[in-house]
Amino acid sequence: MNKTKFNTDAIRSGTIRTGEGEHSEALFLTSSFVFKNAKEASDRFSGSEEENVYSRFTNPSVKMFEERLATLEGAEKCVATSSGMSAILACFMSLCSSGDHVVISKSIFGTSVQLLNNILCRWGLDVTYVNFTNLDEWSHAIKKNTKLFFVETPSNPLTEICDIKSLAEIAHRSNIKLIVDNCFCTPALQKPILFGADIIIHSATKYIDGQGRCLGGAVLGNKNDMKEVYSFLRSAGPTMSAFNAWVFLKGLETLSLRMNAHSNNALELALWLETQKKVSKVYYPGLKSHPQYELALKQQSSGGGIVSFEVKGGKNEAWNLIDSTKMLSITANLGDVKSTITHPNSTTHSRLTDKERSEVGISDNLIRIAVGLEDIEDIKVDLKYLNK
Ligand SMILES: *Cc1c(COP(=O)(O)O)cnc(C)c1O
Repeated sequence: MNKTKFNTDAIRSGTIRTGEGEHSEALFLTSSFVFKNAKEASDRFSGSEEENVYSRFTNPSVKMFEERLATLEGAEKCVATSSGMSAILACFMSLCSSGDHVVISKSIFGTSVQLLNNILCRWGLDVTYVNFTNLDEWSHAIKKNTKLFFVETPSNPLTEICDIKSLAEIAHRSNIKLIVDNCFCTPALQKPILFGADIIIHSATKYIDGQGRCLGGAVLGNKNDMKEVYSFLRSAGPTMSAFNAWVFLKGLETLSLRMNAHSNNALELALWLETQKKVSKVYYPGLKSHPQYELALKQQSSGGGIVSFEVKGGKNEAWNLIDSTKMLSITANLGDVKSTITHPNSTTHSRLTDKERSEVGISDNLIRIAVGLEDIEDIKVDLKYLNK
């Protein structure tokens, strides 16, 4: 069969049509499914017949979303979850046991750190954090009981890049699985499996929805690993709702169109920021001044939608800039068509200690903009404070 390309898959793969002949994917808003007779009920519960039973673990709208995202990431299987955090929880709960060791990038999403340090540690998970761009630190952190490496690339908010291929090689030499949180790029810009990653995590809440409506997540990987993840979710319950899956299916249809538009706007904003009086430094992987520009363009088809920069002065100047804007939304969310502006030091990264913050480079004059799809000229006008 002819292998179809990304946009075609994003629009058509995974579709299940009912006998009604509906064109748009159906929303199966039902908690359970009925059986023809007692024998069929018994077969479905035993798993000898893989059909619908109960929407905590089998729902056709969710299944369509899972198949479509798996096709886009090039993964054998996808399991959908109720949020990005439940995707991360499901990974550790199903692939690790008490006493196992994991190596984690210091620059991951703040709540992931809380999950590891405050909850999973209590269940006997041994965690080492490393500076994720330094591959030697990963190698040196490996112990006999190391099961997983976990990384996010580009990082939030400084957009540092991890060399996925080299990290996967280090992991595989010691029989360790590499998990990549691909939330910032999505498969429209980066497919970590092509570079050797074993498991992909998504917060569908961000670019997959793309319009800031629903929470959801996904774990992707090979059939064996996903069987474990599925079995954890089936028993523990944080699975995706049919309604949210249906919204995300619509999001996937325009994913690469939106991601390319986010990247174009972000690159133009980053170039403009570099010329502003009050800006001392700009962080964006699509800029030639980014220290890992070459690596970024090997792994990602473009820079993505997140731009960070330092304003001259300290926290007061950063806050003054935020308060001078009229259009940008002051919120920590990202991946929305609406541009958002954040002061990471006092919001998303406020739970870190001063030492931890300075280790990951979150200074008090740093601003992050998740660039949306408004006209770029209007975004620049809203930031005119930088040129005063
Ligand atoms: C938002 C986010 C998460 C968590 O996702 P939720 O859907 O909010 O639970 C995980 N990883 C990254 C990189 C994120 O940006």
